[in-house]
Amino acid sequence: MLVILYPNTDAQSPEFAETWSYLSELEGITLRTHVIQGEEQQLTEIYLLGNTKTLPTEQIASLPAVERVIRISESFRILGRHDDSPRAVGFDYKGLRFDQDTLHVFAGLCAVDTPEHVAIMMRALQERGQVCTRMGAYKPRTNPYSFQGHGKACLPYVFELAGKYGIRVIAMEVTHESHIDEIAETLEATGNPTGVMLQIGTRNTQNFELLKHVGRQHEFPVLFKRGFGITLSESLNAAEYLATEGNANVIFCLRGMKTSFSAPHRNLVDFSQIPVLKRLTRMPVCIDPSHSVGTRHRAPDGLLDIYHATAQGVVAGANMILVDFHPAPDKALVDGPQALLMSELDGFLQDVEIAREAYVRRTALAHHMA
Ligand code: PEP
Ligand code: MN
Repeated sequence: MLVILYPNTDAQSPEFAETWSYLSELEGITLRTHVIQGEEQQLTEIYLLGNTKTLPTEQIASLPAVERVIRISESFRILGRHDDSPRAVGFDYKGLRFDQDTLHVFAGLCAVDTPEHVAIMMRALQERGQVCTRMGAYKPRTNPYSFQGHGKACLPYVFELAGKYGIRVIAMEVTHESHIDEIAETLEATGNPTGVMLQIGTRNTQNFELLKHVGRQHEFPVLFKRGFGITLSESLNAAEYLATEGNANVIFCLRGMKTSFSAPHRNLVDFSQIPVLKRLTRMPVCIDPSHSVGTRHRAPDGLLDIYHATAQGVVAGANMILVDFHPAPDKALVDGPQALLMSELDGFLQDVEIAREAYVRRTALAHHMA
């Protein structure tokens, strides 16, 4: 059961005290508080865990600090949608809004290799009004002899260059809890020139201990990749680990499923599940067309398969696009064959705009018809 308090309820107020004392005396029930800090208001939700079937819902609803009581299903308690309740969706970070209606492009390097390439990428983004990027410092590689990423060593110049080129948010994968501290320390040492969205890669979707660590910090939002070989429900349960530990600022990323049926693509594109995710959860939905398609194949119509996959996701309401670019793909240390060229950035962004316009028109039509 979920108890939602009136917006901006002060934890020191008598209303809160009375409400809390009643709830904490319920037998066999443990309480877990979850605070959502929005730009304008603070929302407090209290989760009642245990056997809630016989609890006096009406009495709880009449407690002084309580706005609403919602019965929720067992799964995805925090990140899920329940009873179509209009609970807050999304979050703000570094002045940007991330929710199920917004769209942000995170074009950038799969892996940081040289400061020159980082600078070329970020300058190109700034010239096109883009304020987000992706920059891999810690790379989880299938083969131990492959380049593992520059790690901590590249963080100072990546963050400084981001500040220089007006980049506000960098999606960056972490594969170990120590990486969170390294990122936080380097941000501080460089004067907090930018923000970071911690990325959980598909190989770590069910690394529950890593998820708990990432969930325990509240500074950075999280980009959570779907596991490439598990069910959607298993991935959603894994994402919920972040939220139960206290961080519900999570974006769920579709990145294709591993199966030989995907050939000639690297993974089977799964972007048709965007509406499923929006229906089941309150998370914004990201697509990663680069790691889904994994090649630079071009259709006879002149568009790369990566553009087609991106457009399919955007037309279906994607809220974020994570996409690989590289100034010199043949020199890229990771995933060069799927990287888009700097000369393709303009066309890519325009193609995204066309698809977005189509999505906006489609939803307007649906509202009109309803
Ligand atoms: C990545 O985005 O760099 C990456 C490794 O993706 P995934 O975890 O989806 O394979
Ligand atoms: Mn990659």
